Amino acid sequence: MDKKNDSKKNNHKQKMQKLKESVDASIAAATIEKGIGILLTGEGKGKTSSALGMVLRSLGYGFKVGVVQFIKGAHPSGEAKFFLHNHPDITFHQMGTGFTWETQDRDGDIKAALETWAIAEDMLKDESYYLVVLDELTYMLSFKYLDEERVLKTLNSRPKNQTVVVTGRGGGKALRDWADTVSEVKEVKHAFNSGIMAREGVDY
Ligand code: ATP
Ligand code: MG
Repeated sequence: MDKKNDSKKNNHKQKMQKLKESVDASIAAATIEKGIGILLTGEGKGKTSSALGMVLRSLGYGFKVGVVQFIKGAHPSGEAKFFLHNHPDITFHQMGTGFTWETQDRDGDIKAALETWAIAEDMLKDESYYLVVLDELTYMLSFKYLDEERVLKTLNSRPKNQTVVVTGRGGGKALRDWADTVSEVKEVKHAFNSGIMAREGVDY
C-alpha cells in the first residue's frame, strides 16, 4: 500500500516538474512587451462580460480605459449605469440612436455608426488610454456601416502599449488576422432558449 502511494506521489511529482518546465519555457519565450489586440467572438454568452472583466482589471491598476458600445440595447445596460457615474478613469460611450435589429433606417444607423467610430478613433490615437473596448464592433463591419479597411488601419496604427478588445459575433477574417488573441465563446446552452427572461445585472 505504502509502495503504491509512494509511486503515485513520485508520478505526480514528475508530472508537475514537467509541467513547470514547460510553463517556465513558455514564460521565458514571451519577451515582447506591447499592448495586444483581442477578439472575443462566437455565439455563446460571455463576450461583453469578459471585456468588462478586463476593464475592471485595468482600472484596478489605475489605468485609463475607454469603452465604446456600438449597439444600443432595449434597456440601459448595468455597465452604462455604473461607468457613467462611478469612475473617473473611464470614458464610456454608447451609440446613442434608436438602433435595433429591426431597423428601418439604414442611413440613420450609418450616421450613428460613423459618429460613434469617430469617438473610438480619438481613443485609438491617444496613448493615455491603456485599454480600449470596442463592444459589438463586428456588426458595424458585417452590416458594412463602417469601412473595414479604415477600421483596421486605425487599429493597426494605435499606440504601441494600448490594448484593444473587440467583441461581437461573426468577427471576420481581417479582424482575426489583426488580433493577437482570438477567443470564440461556444454556446452549449442559453437560459433564454428555455424561456427564461434576460436578467438585470446578469445579461445587461
Ligand atoms: P454578455 O454581454 O452577457 O457577455 P455577449 O456579449 O457574449 O453576452 P451578445 O451577443 O452581445 O453576447 O448578447 C448580449 C445579450 O444577449 C445578453 O443579454 C446575453 O445574455 C444574450 N445572449 C448572449 N448569447 C446568447 C445566446 N446564445 N442566446 C440567447 N441570448 C444570448
Ligand atoms: Mg455583447
